[in-house]
Amino acid sequence: MINPRATHLLIRHQEIALKGKNRPEFERLLRNNLAKCVGSQGNVSSVSGRFVVELANREGIPQLVDRLATIAGVAAVTPCLVTKPELDLITSETLDWAKHDLDARPEAATFAIRARRIDKKFQLTSNQLDLEVGSRVRKLRDGMTVNLKKPDLKIAIEVRHHHALIYSWEKAGVRGLPMNATQRIVCLLSGGIDSPVAAYELMRRGCTPIFVHFHSKPFTSEASVAKVKRLAGVLRKLSPHPLEMWLVPLLEIQKAVRDSCNERYRTIHYRRFMMMIAEEIANRRGAKALVTGDALGQVASQTLTNMQAIEDVVRLPVLRPLVAHDKQDIVAKARILGTFEISIEPHDDTCVLFAPDHPSTQAKLSILREESEALPVYDLVFAACDAAEKVLL
Ligand code: ATP
Ligand code: MG
Repeated sequence: MINPRATHLLIRHQEIALKGKNRPEFERLLRNNLAKCVGSQGNVSSVSGRFVVELANREGIPQLVDRLATIAGVAAVTPCLVTKPELDLITSETLDWAKHDLDARPEAATFAIRARRIDKKFQLTSNQLDLEVGSRVRKLRDGMTVNLKKPDLKIAIEVRHHHALIYSWEKAGVRGLPMNATQRIVCLLSGGIDSPVAAYELMRRGCTPIFVHFHSKPFTSEASVAKVKRLAGVLRKLSPHPLEMWLVPLLEIQKAVRDSCNERYRTIHYRRFMMMIAEEIANRRGAKALVTGDALGQVASQTLTNMQAIEDVVRLPVLRPLVAHDKQDIVAKARILGTFEISIEPHDDTCVLFAPDHPSTQAKLSILREESEALPVYDLVFAACDAAEKVLL
């Protein structure tokens, strides 16, 4: 419920406060990211360790609040009214604010005023201000009583040195750390439920993803690629800056693997190539890690042995933020993120092309290495990277 009297949005962050010497840098990043998200809808400034957006007009405020709540680093977005720290003004503005809140809440029968006097020179203490304003708010609705523990309506007043704030509702943000455009990671995005969630977990830790998707067109459909692009598009909305996506053809590699490797190892060879290509893209784009949606034991191929066999071909760290999550947790996160409904649409899985019904779950590293050596690995990897289609989301 956004009070129509709101003139500003108060934006709190949490973890940044713990960052010690790096705090100014994190604050600068978050402020820039917020400013990009707000655009011409307002002005962002930093006030007493928080941010305040001065709203330029009344249009699209609910959408702006929703968008800001998804910016990594934001703990809460609070629509508020900013006024001068003068008792008369604070009282009349709070009454006006309460009237609008009560209009929107016909069932509200209890309320509380929570005043905080940060400027100790203000003439009333926090408690006195509670009583002063509360006694007048109570008269706005017949029979309304004070309930400090669990009020239907709670209005907060903060009296600071140069301004006072009035607010009553906040939207919880995603928390985490602000996204940093220079802190790049390559995220392998498959079209399933897990990989978009994995990418998002690291976006929330300040990383900027470069998405990589492997397809086997024309054996896999154009619609499957379009689906993965839509998934990436959902994540793009959570980023303050444009994101890159690479669509890499894997078919030539899959044919080479089919023609010369053990049938039961095909899927693992595909995965090894995916990793090498992802690493090559990371090197070209200055990314520092690779990210997958693997969760241990979720499907037969996600065994520790296979993870080791797949990771064997790269030097960059492979991050698997979902490794110990169960499917239920991941699904719940995907729903909140807005990727779940897209992920469950049917798509063609690149990994099963030419693959046997029972791929190996315990691939022997020595055999995999031997088989790889018989292939022109670097030529195949570079050719796939060069043939990739690059999209800016
Ligand atoms: P997801 O739901 O993310 O597809 P999954 O549980 O289906 O995961 P796999 O299909 O075994 O697991 O894939 C494991 C991980 O490998 C994926 O999370 C993704 O990061 C990567 N991956 C698999 N296939 C592709 C692909 N075609 N393009 C890019 N990455 C892929
Ligand atoms: Mg999958």
